Amino acid sequence: MIQPNIPETGMPRVVIVGGGFGGINLAKKLKNAPVQIVMLDRNNYHLFQPLLYQVSTAGLETDSIAFPLRGIFKHQSNFFFRMAEVTGVRPEENILETGIGELRYDYLVLATGSTTNFFGNKIIEEHAIGMKSLIEAVQIRNYVIKQFEESLLLKDEEQVKAKLNFVMVGGGPTGVELAGAFAELRKYIMPKDYPELPVSLMNIYLIEGSNRILNSMSEHSSAKSLESLEKLGVKVLCNAVVKEYDGKTLTLSNGETLKTQSLLWAAGVKGIPVAGIPQESILPNGRIQVNEFNQVNGTLNIYAIGDIAQMTTDPKFPRGFPMVAQVAIQQGGNLAENIVKMVKSAGKGLKAFKYNDLGSMATIGRNHAVAEFAGMKLSGFMAWMVWMVVHLLSLLGFRNKLVVLSNWFYRYFTFDRGTRIIIKRGAANIVKLRQTVVS
Ligand SMILES: Cc1cc2nc3c(=O)[nH]c(=O)nc-3n(C[C@H](O)[C@H](O)[C@H](O)COP(=O)(O)OP(=O)(O)OC[C@H]3O[C@@H](n4cnc5c(N)ncnc54)[C@H](O)[C@@H]3O)c2cc1C
Repeated sequence: MIQPNIPETGMPRVVIVGGGFGGINLAKKLKNAPVQIVMLDRNNYHLFQPLLYQVSTAGLETDSIAFPLRGIFKHQSNFFFRMAEVTGVRPEENILETGIGELRYDYLVLATGSTTNFFGNKIIEEHAIGMKSLIEAVQIRNYVIKQFEESLLLKDEEQVKAKLNFVMVGGGPTGVELAGAFAELRKYIMPKDYPELPVSLMNIYLIEGSNRILNSMSEHSSAKSLESLEKLGVKVLCNAVVKEYDGKTLTLSNGETLKTQSLLWAAGVKGIPVAGIPQESILPNGRIQVNEFNQVNGTLNIYAIGDIAQMTTDPKFPRGFPMVAQVAIQQGGNLAENIVKMVKSAGKGLKAFKYNDLGSMATIGRNHAVAEFAGMKLSGFMAWMVWMVVHLLSLLGFRNKLVVLSNWFYRYFTFDRGTRIIIKRGAANIVKLRQTVVS
């Protein structure tokens, strides 16, 4: 029988589900604590999601933004890792249900992140492409390059346009960064790789439901990013909501239609709570309601941090903290301190979580970004430099930093992208292609 086979060390066991930003920081901060840490993740690596869009647009290779979890904790003797899918929890017995068997815990921390939210629209979900995992990013890359290869086989210009119309939904940082990267593909790569295809046949749209892109940033940053995107030829449609999409035609709420076979969905994320969490603490968006100590409402020793947790105790964030890496990292750090207090001094002096907003930024492409931090609003080259430094420093592992930096240098000076390769033939299956390729 398969079982987790975790040795009993006599120390309180902290089980962390998820080796993302929150889970990793929590485990690191518990390095010298008198606890046994068991981390479970369905993948054996930590994924740096902020650079996923560069994998999907052939800018970076997969292993430069993923880092093996075992490598991160190789010098931490109280740390155990098992690759497993967690399926449920039985809080009354302190038992976690996983694909590799059941596991006892003293403290359970859910750090399972979030998934793409299609807001219940099953038809859009079936045809659109999300970007939350490494596999999805590679599938997007395969798919995009395949669209170009197939376009060469078409005689009808309208059919080619439909193939090369790339539509991004959601004008937040992910949608903006994707649209910028696609625009650079069109500007620098397509004319060299596909000289037979006129650049005018490739169009990039960014669709945003509110009245401006990057609406979580200032109007100044919104306007600057809009200007940069439009300069790159991206068609930005604000106050536009996707109503329907059948894999070929996209219909907006104002009745406008667009022919496209590539709808990239960056319009929202939601939580997927593990079965067994008290129903009353699960919110409509799938996130788990926690108190100021990240304790799941209605439980004694279950905690949630990062994207999956919704904490509404700070009046400045009545709908919870933003689903960004810093919140997850800081909550992991604060919970580590509290776990030590619970273990050593029966929970005396627990510290409520306080979010320290370090700022936000988004890049639009070569020499263009917007950044807001420490009361400053930067745009253009300076913001782009800041964006690169912050992302580089946040990446785990010296090797990954070096690989990403050398890739960026190479791209900057050669205007080239290294990974324009289709690895999996069946990649197009992520969007059901019903188009007949004419010979
Ligand atoms: C494309 C993209 C770009 C982004 N850009 C930025 C950015 O520029 N700046 C920023 O601050 N934030 C950005 N974010 C958001 C940021 O990545 C998240 O807020 C952050 O990853 C949340 O950390 P977390 O620890 O809560 O979860 P995650 O980092 O998502 O980690 C969750 C982990 O849990 C594992 N897991 C989930 N369910 C299970 C299960 N049932 N069993 C086992 N394992 C499970 C997953 O495999 C994963 O390793 C971006 C997100 C995306 C998708």
